[in-house]
Amino acid sequence: MMSEDLYTSARHSMVVEQLVERGITDPRVIHAMSTVPRHQFVPDEVRDQAYDDGPLPIGENQTISQPYIVALMTELLNLQGHETILEIGTGSGYQAAILGKLARQVYSIERHEPLAQQAARVLDALGYTNIVIMTGDGSRGLLAHGPYEGILVTAATPRVPQILLAQLADGGRLIAPSGGEKGQQLERWTRRGARFKCETLIPVAFVPLRGKLGWQDNEWRP
Ligand code: SAM
Repeated sequence: MMSEDLYTSARHSMVVEQLVERGITDPRVIHAMSTVPRHQFVPDEVRDQAYDDGPLPIGENQTISQPYIVALMTELLNLQGHETILEIGTGSGYQAAILGKLARQVYSIERHEPLAQQAARVLDALGYTNIVIMTGDGSRGLLAHGPYEGILVTAATPRVPQILLAQLADGGRLIAPSGGEKGQQLERWTRRGARFKCETLIPVAFVPLRGKLGWQDNEWRP
């Protein structure tokens, strides 16, 4: 295990080499990525790789996303600080922690209870009071706390469900990987009244969104 000083220095290198040099510019996103201790969100076995340029295993066959993808998806939400955000796919809780620094309130749903519990423990230990972690199928969103200025889906949807778009506030944005096991495109949907604009951004590779409106257990393809 490295010392806290070494983790801090690895985090600063990550921000410069993986984020700034690839075009992340929002100072609030850069600040959040510079301060949230990513190494505390990953299992002991991979802790020393926490600031490497890639995803890492977190148990239950799931992953914490690559730092650049976390920063990019966050930047695409264009957060100002007043927002209520829904994240679907808590995983380690790291993305929720970044969102918690930049928005007013974050709700995050995870289908694997052990991951949800572990994420809630870490966030609690770090002192977050504006992030609520829930266990369940998030493929239909979370009607109770919407509408949301931002929705972040951190697992691959076969297609973005209409019911999620309907939970966006006017002017709100939804970011999601859309596609199958051979690859997905990162999409940003923006709501203007009853209209939705979809921008297709870059190819990405996420684990599947499983659930009622996600991929079924016996499928995961195109
Ligand atoms: N955002 C996470 C982080 O910061 O560590 C990484 C998310 S990981 C790439 C995708 C997560 O989505 C997995 O933990 C998986 O269990 C979860 N997931 C898949 N389908 C889901 C669903 N229908 N509802 C909630 N979570 C789901």
